[in-house]
Formats: sequence, structure tokens, C-alpha cells
Amino acid sequence: MSRIAVYTGTFDPIHLGHVDIIERGSRVFDRVIVAVGINPDKAPLFTLEERVKLVREVVKEHKNVEVMPFTGLAVHFVREIKANCMLRGLRTTSDMEYEFTMSLANMTLDSDIETVFLMAKDIYSHLSSSLLKQIAAFGGNLEKFLPPAALEMLQGKLAKVKKTSK
Ligand code: ADP
Repeated sequence: MSRIAVYTGTFDPIHLGHVDIIERGSRVFDRVIVAVGINPDKAPLFTLEERVKLVREVVKEHKNVEVMPFTGLAVHFVREIKANCMLRGLRTTSDMEYEFTMSLANMTLDSDIETVFLMAKDIYSHLSSSLLKQIAAFGGNLEKFLPPAALEMLQGKLAKVKKTSK
């Protein structure tokens, strides 16, 4: 049986902390599916289509990584595509509580699906898409934290937003 992991997230936009988890996950699993979704608690800057296109561009060199949009419950999506595991990144202790609750909820919904956590790399452990969007809005340098395609897309989007709000 091949080991297929699903890495869900909003990826608004994808940053190097996400990329690190995808790369390390792709060494542990036979296939990694990056599932780009809609989080009802978040108002994303990019559309689902934009986020999927960007993630595809960023991970295109990894032959065992695929990118798919998804809606609804993550465990349903995992089962639908015949995967058997959920991959998550863990940053700080503040992620623990949320991730612990989510993994228990998912286990209750479908006990056949395991969640595997990879610790964030120290240099990315403070990174979040929302922090990066805030820094970008104030013109901060994000080259160390975003893949080039994401940096270009974020700068383009912010310039557009600025223009329309004038
Ligand atoms: P969500 O809206 O589901 O939280 P995110 O795009 O913020 O989506 O995160 C998707 C996944 O990536 C989650 O498992 C999250 O813990 C992980 N993640 C986010 N930021 C980092 C980071 N800097 N390093 C490692 N993993 C991260």
C-alpha cells in the first residue's frame, strides 16, 4: 500500500515554512497531495484559483507532490482521494492546542486516517501567511520567507489593492 499524505491549508500565500513541510513530507511519504482549501475563519487575499496556481508553480519540481483544491471536511477529502494520512506543520506551542483539537476531531470523524506532524524548522517557526501579508503591506523585505513566485504575486496583488482603494 502506498503512503499518501494530504497537507491541507489556506496557503494565502504559500511561504517557505509550508514549502519546507512539503519537501520533508515528500521524503517520508510516497505521495503528498497539497490540498488548498477555504477556511471560513479567514478572509483570504487571494482567490482559491490563484492560491492553487501559485502552489503548483512553487512545487512543480517535486515529482511526488500534487496540488488540488478542496472544499468541505478534510477527512472526507482524504478518503475521497484514497489517501491515508494528514500531514500538518507544527510551529510554536500556540499551534499545539488548535492542532491537538483538530486531530482529535478528525480521529473521531474517521479513525482510519492518521495525522502526522512535522516540527517547523527553527528559521520558519515564527512565519505565518498573515504576518507576511502585514509586513508586505508596509513594504518590508520578504525574500527570505517567500518563494520568488509568491513574492511577485503578493507584491502585484497589494499594488492592485492599493490602486483600487485610492
Ligand atoms: P490553515 O488555514 O489550515 O491554518 P495555513 O496555510 O495557515 O492553513 O497552514 C497550513 C499548514 O501549514 C498547517 O499545518 C500549519 O500548521 C502549517 N504551517 C503554517 N506555517 C508554518 C510554518 N511557518 N512552518 C511549518 N508549518 C507551517
